[in-house]
Amino acid sequence: MTQLMNSWLPSANRADCDYPLNNLPCGVASTDGNGPFCCTAIGDKVLNLAKLEAAGVIDARGTLSTGSWNAFFALGPAAWESQRERLVALLKAGAPDIATTETHLIAMSAIRMHMPFKVAEFKDFYASRDHAFNVGTMFRGADNALPPNWLHIPIGYNGRASSIVVSGTPVRRPSGQVKGPDETVPRFAPCERFDIELELGAIVGQPSDGQITVDQADENIFGYVLLNDWSARDIQAWEYQPLGPFQSKATATSVSPWIVTKAALEPFRVSTPARERELLPHLRDTKPMLYDIALEVGLAPEGEAETIISRTNYCTMYYSAAQQLAHHTTSGCPMRVGDLLGSGTISGPEKCNRGSLLELSWGGKEPLVLDTGQSRSFVEDGDTLTLRGHAAGKGYRIGFGSCVGKLLPAS
Ligand code: MN
Repeated sequence: MTQLMNSWLPSANRADCDYPLNNLPCGVASTDGNGPFCCTAIGDKVLNLAKLEAAGVIDARGTLSTGSWNAFFALGPAAWESQRERLVALLKAGAPDIATTETHLIAMSAIRMHMPFKVAEFKDFYASRDHAFNVGTMFRGADNALPPNWLHIPIGYNGRASSIVVSGTPVRRPSGQVKGPDETVPRFAPCERFDIELELGAIVGQPSDGQITVDQADENIFGYVLLNDWSARDIQAWEYQPLGPFQSKATATSVSPWIVTKAALEPFRVSTPARERELLPHLRDTKPMLYDIALEVGLAPEGEAETIISRTNYCTMYYSAAQQLAHHTTSGCPMRVGDLLGSGTISGPEKCNRGSLLELSWGGKEPLVLDTGQSRSFVEDGDTLTLRGHAAGKGYRIGFGSCVGKLLPAS
């Protein structure tokens, strides 16, 4: 485990700070008079990297003034590494000349965050064994919980990029076609079983054309964000057979505004769990490909205090993002800079580890009781859902910040 890298900025050295020098996440921010610009977070400040590049202090070939990180991703791993090294040199304790850097620091409270990258395409998976087992048990019984393919391939589907939104964007309850078990014909109505999915999103930073190995896939991933894959369970139940979810997963997917780089997460790598069936060679991982990232979900009813409804960890996944990305290329499908891969709902073995309300309330049969005394089976109008995550080092943490979304009533 690496240690905290000390910064000359005192707030970055606090043990509970999400953004120590070890982190250096990638975001896009604006102030009242400036931006959007690429930036990083350090302590309780944001460093305007576009300005730093314009001042000649760093060199990212002009990509940092584009208001998106895609052009920087395209520069490749050598550029990613050299920028990280340069920023560490500028921000570490004892750095020789901090005057220019200090000029371009902005209080985090004075900025607005934007979508940090342009999503090329969105793909979503189903890769937590506990989640797949819980959902399968609800619908097919414990004996047939896992589909026959589940232990052999990371199941996924192609989503849509247009409704990926940054944290803080409100989400409107969708309407759609639903049919209850006792109804003979479907009706068009507001979703009554609107849900969250606690996920991690992996961002593809390098293109590929044709099949790539799991190791190559790992190299091509730039970093990770928290991801809430809002889901309309009643719409999903009616529409999904046989082609899978469509409108039930198209309303919105929220992502956290800071991209935590693979480089920052390196000390927290953990292996995928023991294989229950040996994977075919093209899906085998050769080194630890998951990360030890503690995750939680908070639910706050309108005007009320928040209750933490779930606590889990990304290390419990059965398939890594690298395995998912490698699998996606087996067809020859080209991958592009800015492709986003959702991990799938992250649940753990205990009830308190479940990453969706569908599981937490067991399909609505066991409503959850909040600290306020209210109960929840699914998301209600006015509820604010907040995802948080961090990897814990010795005396420091690599924080993801938060991914927040409030549900507005159906229009
Ligand atoms: Mn999902």
